[in-house]
Amino acid sequence: MQGKLGLRTLEDISALILQSHNLDETLNNIVDLVARRMQTEVCSLYLLDPDGETLRLRATHGLSPDAVGRVTMKTSEGLAGLTVEKRQTVAIREPEKHPRYRYFAETGEERYHSFLGIPLFDRQNPLGVIVIQTVEPRTFTETEISALSTIAFQVASIVINARLLDSINRRQSALPDPGQTGEPTAADECEQRPILRGQVAYPGVAMGPAHILDNQQGFADIFDEDGVDADEERSRLADALEKTRIQTLFLEKRMAERLGEEDASIFHTHLMILEDHGFVDKLFDEIDAGHSAPYALKKVVSTYIDAFKKMDDPYLRERAADMADIGRRILAHLTGREESGLHLKTPGILVAHEILPSDMASLDPEQVLGLVTESGGEYSHAVIMAKSLGIPAMVDVRGVLRHLEPEAPVILDANAGTFYIRPQPAVEEEYRRLDRERRRELGRLDELRKLPARTADGVDIVLRANIGLVSDIEIARHNGARGVGLYRTEFPYMARGGFPDRDDQYRLYRKVVEGFPGEVVTIRTLDIGGDKALPYFAPPEEDNPFMGWRSVRVSLDNPDIFITQIEAILMAARHGDVRLLFPMISSVEEALACRQAVRQAAANLAGEEIEHVADIPLGVMIEVPAAIPIARHLAELVDFFALGTNDLVQYLLAADRGNPLVRKYYDPLHPAVLATIRQIHLIARDTGRALCLCGEMATDPLGLLALLGLGLREFSTPAPYIPRIKALLQRINLEQTARAVDEIVDLGESHEIRSRLQRLLPKD
Ligand code: PEP
Ligand code: MG
Repeated sequence: MQGKLGLRTLEDISALILQSHNLDETLNNIVDLVARRMQTEVCSLYLLDPDGETLRLRATHGLSPDAVGRVTMKTSEGLAGLTVEKRQTVAIREPEKHPRYRYFAETGEERYHSFLGIPLFDRQNPLGVIVIQTVEPRTFTETEISALSTIAFQVASIVINARLLDSINRRQSALPDPGQTGEPTAADECEQRPILRGQVAYPGVAMGPAHILDNQQGFADIFDEDGVDADEERSRLADALEKTRIQTLFLEKRMAERLGEEDASIFHTHLMILEDHGFVDKLFDEIDAGHSAPYALKKVVSTYIDAFKKMDDPYLRERAADMADIGRRILAHLTGREESGLHLKTPGILVAHEILPSDMASLDPEQVLGLVTESGGEYSHAVIMAKSLGIPAMVDVRGVLRHLEPEAPVILDANAGTFYIRPQPAVEEEYRRLDRERRRELGRLDELRKLPARTADGVDIVLRANIGLVSDIEIARHNGARGVGLYRTEFPYMARGGFPDRDDQYRLYRKVVEGFPGEVVTIRTLDIGGDKALPYFAPPEEDNPFMGWRSVRVSLDNPDIFITQIEAILMAARHGDVRLLFPMISSVEEALACRQAVRQAAANLAGEEIEHVADIPLGVMIEVPAAIPIARHLAELVDFFALGTNDLVQYLLAADRGNPLVRKYYDPLHPAVLATIRQIHLIARDTGRALCLCGEMATDPLGLLALLGLGLREFSTPAPYIPRIKALLQRINLEQTARAVDEIVDLGESHEIRSRLQRLLPKD
């Protein structure tokens, strides 16, 4: 039902964009479509003026067209104002009886007897309201309200893009020529065999020939020409634009198949640009001014890129990449030249100044061994996609293109953050040896994937996967994970331009849950802050973000976001064995507040008559040291514990988990860490609560040995480690290990602990 009413398929949105060529047309098409879909006489869109207080009618289907642009109200007035003020849906029968009703003669709205308003947001900030009205007094069903909320979410992103283009179009004439970006300087450089450093975007090692993707392709050698035939250039341009539109739809579809509809929606921005009158007219104007189509394109695209780059907002600045992408694709169609690098015939490492979304959609992942970019861009879609495809990647590798010729042999060590160009034979041999060992190990591990996770003395151990992206599901299954011990939900939030709505989240969680039939899937609520930022939810400036406003603290302070996420999880829980996990709990009060949020979410869903699981098993992460002395109290409130050693170690030892300067202090085998883990294990055992360790500690053989010896039996790790852990388990005698570890834990020095564990570790 909702699927039919909702505006949520890629096709729906793409069709709408294809008919809209400027802000007003976009808004008009939105209201027409929504009125049609919701079967209502009226749909209107009010947007906030720049003063942030005045709502202005910007488009309407059903009310008098003369009212558009003229009817305004403060957010403290009228029912539309009430919707913005309350930041939530307002549904009213007989609106004229409501105390907040305000009559506008120019709209002719007195005929309507029901009102439904849904607020629109640009990230956190109110953007406007979408309103529907009907002649018949109508009580909107929960399904209808939920459908309109889904629509509102999509509409907001379309409006944001349309406004952005509009503002760029209007400011454009005042812009100077685009300047050159500064020449990057390479670190650690040796002329013949440079070794460059960069930022690791996804770990791993790859070696092979460099495939250079020339993003600036073509534009560098496009110059103004004399005596061009304007008619011919116009038809060339029209043809190239049409081909690019079709290509965009194709790329969108392909990306949707590969990564999901949400990720594919980035191509909506591309389609909007291709349909935008401001952009297209400027291209034709340049041809009319006597330029060739490629030169017109070069001129217009560069001014747009420059305008995007001048945006204050880092997320909007990233949209320059979308513009560059489109420019390059149109140019390829104009000149008939193949875009290099997109159709790699042989495996290699892709190197580019910047890798654009369409590159990622067109690439054959089989042929891409690694990715290296000169530009940074931790929020860039391409980096997020590289991670989901599991391709080793490094960004911010300055000077890389200056040193590289096509097909040069390279080594990408995205574990160490190093990129070798034409490496020394000895270096190459070393990496080849590592690669051979890795392959041998992989071959051996392949056989282990399906084996039970059992110790030599026959004790079964539970090995689950830590996951973050949809593509992790397949990796987890392939590696023989028993469900998911930790689903980090912040990653899907990072890949978007705004908070996903409840239905978006539900669909995603359902996909994950259905990926593990019959197995546990532990979904953790948002854990942002610290090192995990959302591009659209600016964290406050904090001196000490890991000690600051992060994780469940952010969720509890933002009940709308928190409860919406829990609702989506309770809905997804119908499809499998789902557990709900709260991160960074440091007090009983927080655990109580989380339980209250779950009750509230379940009550909301019950009120909306949406199917869900209200009595979902609840758990808390034990990762703040304070949680341990109060763990017996926490045990009364939850069904399970998840031990997060990544954070626990940093908080116990006051050593930032991401700071290389204090790496030696960040020691999971520190006696204080082991004693603390023993303590929580005993509390979990005594209170009968399951305890699953989901930090990286279990991926280190010595760490795993210590943890097994301390009594832990359930682990959740990145899935590729699972076969390796199974191999180790098969050689461990648990009884002996427990006896030895019992003594080891009480040693005072961690180097002593380490060497005793080393001796205990079974040899290959
Ligand atoms: C942890 O802290 O150990 C953990 C698993 O959570 P994250 O790494 O996501 O902080
Ligand atoms: Mg943590």
